[in-house]
Amino acid sequence: GQAQLQLDSAPSEVTDLAQTFNTMLSRLSDSWTQQREFVSNVSHELRTPLTIVHGYLQSMQRRSQNLTEAQQEALDIAAVETERIIRLLQDLLDLARADSGYLHLSWEPIDLAALLREVASMADPFSSHTIQVEIERLDAHGSGAESIHVKADRSRLRQVLINLIDNAVKYSEPHTPVTLRLHQFDEFVALQVSDRGCGIDLPHQTRIFERFYRVDEARSRSTGGSGLGLSIVKTLVEGMGGSITVRSKLGEGSVFTVTLPNPSVKL
Ligand code: ADP
Repeated sequence: GQAQLQLDSAPSEVTDLAQTFNTMLSRLSDSWTQQREFVSNVSHELRTPLTIVHGYLQSMQRRSQNLTEAQQEALDIAAVETERIIRLLQDLLDLARADSGYLHLSWEPIDLAALLREVASMADPFSSHTIQVEIERLDAHGSGAESIHVKADRSRLRQVLINLIDNAVKYSEPHTPVTLRLHQFDEFVALQVSDRGCGIDLPHQTRIFERFYRVDEARSRSTGGSGLGLSIVKTLVEGMGGSITVRSKLGEGSVFTVTLPNPSVKL
């Protein structure tokens, strides 16, 4: 519902003012909707042809034996950059959908320990970092640490973890550890991604979840980021009924904590 000023028995100047206010508010809301639809349509229209271009580039890469080294390099750059734009468009689409309340989530019970191990093993071969997984159960029910479940959207939760691990790797030196921790408490489950990277200074810590916000423009650009990753992570986590926080110290590293409701709690 939209805010409306209602003043039934007020003097006519005030009623006029209220009417003007309501008209302007409704125009503002229309233009916000139009802007959202515009972003969503443009992203969608661009994504399809770019995905085709990317497919051709990849098939050329597979048959690049007869190319010179410089040509191969140009081809590789074209493929990487195209992929980056496709990812950016996907992110814009996700945010536009979430804004308009159309982000579809498929809820299912998820074994978090299994998911963490799966994501860690996916990330490991591509990374010069060691990805460690630690699982701990802190509730009264003892040691059954192997089965910690939540109700969430599996592919979205995987996207959240991959984004956080990707950042942990991007913003830390090679061969430093990245640790994934899973804690189960009575009322919620906490997933943590920690790194020993460059860290984030306190004034930036709340702002990094804003769209397009980056602490260091130059560094982020060179690592391929758009500044949308964490805003999507936050949107997805909140969409699944959870929250995300960061604890970090400049020069020492960062800990991102995602908490999700424990489905065994009857509210
Ligand atoms: P980007 O695409 O730039 O990585 P994100 O939304 O994922 O965008 O992150 C926003 C900013 O937060 C980054 O540009 C970076 O400055 C900072 N940041 C995110 N994760 C970390 C991390 N693990 N360590 C240090 N800085 C981080």
